[in-house]
Amino acid sequence: MRKKFDVIICGCGLAGCAAGLSLARRGHSVAMLDRARFPRRKLCGGLLTWKSVKLLESLFGETPESLIQAGAINFISDKYAIRTFATTLASGDLSFPFHFVDRSVFDNHLLSSAVAAGAEVFQKMKVVSCDPVQGLVTCENGDVFQGDHVIGADGANSVVRGSFPNYSRERFKRFMAPTIEIALDRKDYPRSVEYPELYVGFMDAGYGWVFPNRNKIVLGICGLRQKDVNFSQLFESYLDFLKVDRDRVPDLHGHPLPYGNYLENPVHGVTLLAGDAGGFVEPLLGEGIFFALCTGMYAGEAVAQGIEKATAPGPIYTQRLFTHIMPELKGSDRLRWALFKGMKYLGPSSLGWFINLGSTRLSEMVHGIRSYSWLRKKHWDF
Ligand SMILES: Cc1cc2nc3c(=O)[nH]c(=O)nc-3n(C[C@H](O)[C@H](O)[C@H](O)COP(=O)(O)OP(=O)(O)OC[C@H]3O[C@@H](n4cnc5c(N)ncnc54)[C@H](O)[C@@H]3O)c2cc1C
Repeated sequence: MRKKFDVIICGCGLAGCAAGLSLARRGHSVAMLDRARFPRRKLCGGLLTWKSVKLLESLFGETPESLIQAGAINFISDKYAIRTFATTLASGDLSFPFHFVDRSVFDNHLLSSAVAAGAEVFQKMKVVSCDPVQGLVTCENGDVFQGDHVIGADGANSVVRGSFPNYSRERFKRFMAPTIEIALDRKDYPRSVEYPELYVGFMDAGYGWVFPNRNKIVLGICGLRQKDVNFSQLFESYLDFLKVDRDRVPDLHGHPLPYGNYLENPVHGVTLLAGDAGGFVEPLLGEGIFFALCTGMYAGEAVAQGIEKATAPGPIYTQRLFTHIMPELKGSDRLRWALFKGMKYLGPSSLGWFINLGSTRLSEMVHGIRSYSWLRKKHWDF
């Protein structure tokens, strides 16, 4: 028996929730499938920038206060530091604070908004194949879902993306960064941390982070694979540098992070990709939360408009991506190579000079108040 809906959304993470809410709110029948049962664990630093806060407000009606009340935001900081293992390159105040969320609570909270708007959620429903032209999604338990449209929001290892014939698998793999992240109780971390710290200079294209949460310290590394460098060993030397007591370290977990492999054409047949599934992560700092929410919303709204106007949603989606998202990803990609190559050939202090030269404007760029494209004022359409 096939279950029929206007739209099948594979994945109930951030991109899936944004798409599901946008569609259900406009009265379309939506099935949201996820292999996990929510609340589920999601490896993530949980850092929200200004643009994420603004998008959450306009799409979900959530403010920092409501998210604090829901237990999703658990730390706010208006300071930062960028360091090497030897010295501090830059530190100071931010034009807007960073907010930190617990992804397990945050994602579950946003999913409940999509459900309240009318989306039907199917948990423990692992997608194993997709026919992106026919709109057929098959799950591990044999259930088959048929949609007039499909949105692939099933994360970095997307099965839906795997069904697309029109992208370079080799390139997607090459720019998929490994990450390792752990969370320690504050009492198990050797010192107090009250603002986010980034560590650079110990890998070619990547960095480490130490993020404060209310009761925890979240620390991790991400970066492009380097020949002859073992990523787990790199993480261990990072822990040694931070003087973390190995007896306090929980089991290590990793998750791939799209890091410069965004797809230029995330549409095939009746299927659109959003979030990590389409590689939509900012390639300098690895910010994916905003891009998952925004591309999920764009995909949902494009499909809604397509149904309502009896037209194909693909061009509506890509046009919006190319106006608002791609310039940011491409600008950040260019900057990433300039900064990482600068650090490699001129030394890490080159990054310090760069940040200190334009500190306020650069922090506005990270937040999305300015564009990665030449620091122009950024006008978002949400
Ligand atoms: C270690 C780490 C730290 C990060 N830190 C930050 C940060 O601090 N700030 C930031 O902005 N970004 C960060 N990111 C990036 C951010 O987490 C992602 O970009 C974001 O979660 C993408 O959202 P998504 O909805 O596309 O995918 P996901 O959040 O991964 O959701 C995908 C969903 O699909 C489901 N799924 C997967 N496969 C299937 C299947 N076959 N069938 C059914 N369901 C399936 C999953 O269970 C999941 O619920 C980090 C990433 C990592 C790995």
